[in-house]
Amino acid sequence: MTTVRSLCVYCGSSSRVAPHHFEAASRLGAILAQRRIRLIFGGGHVGLMGLMADAALAGGGEVIGVIPDFIEDLEVAHPDVTELVVVDSMHARKQKMFELADAFAVLPGGLGTLDETLEIITWKQLNIHDKPIVLVDVEGYWAPLRGLIDKLVDEGFAGPDALNFFTVVTRVEDVLPALARAPELAIEPEPSHI
Ligand code: AMP
Repeated sequence: MTTVRSLCVYCGSSSRVAPHHFEAASRLGAILAQRRIRLIFGGGHVGLMGLMADAALAGGGEVIGVIPDFIEDLEVAHPDVTELVVVDSMHARKQKMFELADAFAVLPGGLGTLDETLEIITWKQLNIHDKPIVLVDVEGYWAPLRGLIDKLVDEGFAGPDALNFFTVVTRVEDVLPALARAPELAIEPEPSHI
């Protein structure tokens, strides 16, 4: 794989957050639509995830939501997505989102976002995948997480590689450029026949 066709975005489902978080989610949705990159997300019509999907759809983008049946009502499944995949557990949701994506971006979010993010980073540590992960550190939101990962490395609970499993950008506009530079997507040179 050399280009990202489907980007999975993890982000918060809460609506009680500052406007700049909504703006970031909305801008990322619009960028993905503009660049014709399929958005894979949690399928809810709430919080940052709902607004991001709205923006992608408004831009004519393709949006695939993956939602467990038992929270379909709780998170109000987005009614207008291109495709809504209904699964039977949180684990199945994460597995499906993983399978559908070429790369991952993380916007600010709560415990669910944290869970999804740490899992996808851990799977990379275990060599289950080698897909790029971009943490979008909107207004320093993820600084404590980065500090915690630094501490894991400093104290020997994680190898120095842990810091290479993801890249950090501060603006959603930098997500696709970061993916374009991602070493995981580097094109293998064609074998020479001369
Ligand atoms: P939050 O960041 O807590 O607002 O949650 C973001 C999304 O993650 C929501 O769609 C939650 O349903 C989902 N989520 C929460 N916990 C989990 C989990 N353990 N596995 C998968 N998804 C989760």
